[in-house]
Amino acid sequence: MPDNAAPLPDFTRWPSFPFEGDMRVKPLADPVEVEPPRSGEDAADCVACNTPDEAYIWVSERWRVRAMDRPTGLPMVLILECRSHLDLGDLPNLLAAELGVMTVRLERAIRSLDGVARVHVNRWGDGSAHLHLWFLARPYGRLQLRGTFLSLWDDILPVIPEPQWRENLALVAAWLAEFGGQAIAEPPHIQWEAPSTITHSPSAAHDADDHRPATLGDVEAKTDAEIGTGTETKTETEAKNGTGTEAETEATVATEAKTETKTASTIAVANDMVEDVPAVQPRAIT
Ligand SMILES: [Zn+2]
Repeated sequence: MPDNAAPLPDFTRWPSFPFEGDMRVKPLADPVEVEPPRSGEDAADCVACNTPDEAYIWVSERWRVRAMDRPTGLPMVLILECRSHLDLGDLPNLLAAELGVMTVRLERAIRSLDGVARVHVNRWGDGSAHLHLWFLARPYGRLQLRGTFLSLWDDILPVIPEPQWRENLALVAAWLAEFGGQAIAEPPHIQWEAPSTITHSPSAAHDADDHRPATLGDVEAKTDAEIGTGTETKTETEAKNGTGTEAETEATVATEAKTETKTASTIAVANDMVEDVPAVQPRAIT
């Protein structure tokens, strides 16, 4: 066997790296000449375009927010999508501007939840063609989870209780609905006091099981060739996070300041930014 003596990169020794023990670098697969299409390159086959609003936690005229089909290890994992069958670089100026507003708004909503210290916003786009941004909440106090390995820890941490998860979904949905749109997720009521089946909860799981968009896990379960791009993206992100420790104090202060900015005037301004723009017909541009 040819040796595979590539030295382990420094990040394997970071406190946030989830694994320890003997490891070695995988052999790098040969690049393909032509990459395979992503899931839903054609709008007719697109999971997002064919998933009804009921599967989402909040919807508006041009944007939708969805959760996973069941709770995971992080306190909150959400996906922001536009209704139009577009990818990031295809967004017209209207949607591009709204993406900024929606990103800030959703980040703030998730960060308002108890036990959430930070919200990581990611866009990979190697799985599904339809634009989708990931919002991953890091639990407060879990300094070991800081940085780019948070998405891995999501599959490692103990799953959070489903009632708490549903309550948080409803809180985020209600927060977003204050600015417009419609909250779909509701807080857990009496039915959630009975032992529930996590794999087949009534409201969210039925659709997600059948029409779930390609997730990070789906992507990373695919061929090694496809992972090449993802690794590159993560490395770039890591570079940005390199100063995370020294920026921590400043970021913490900023977090508190931002929380305080949820005033009526702020809400009104943000609301205007989204609601006063002319409407775009969903999926008009394909
Ligand atoms: Zn689509």
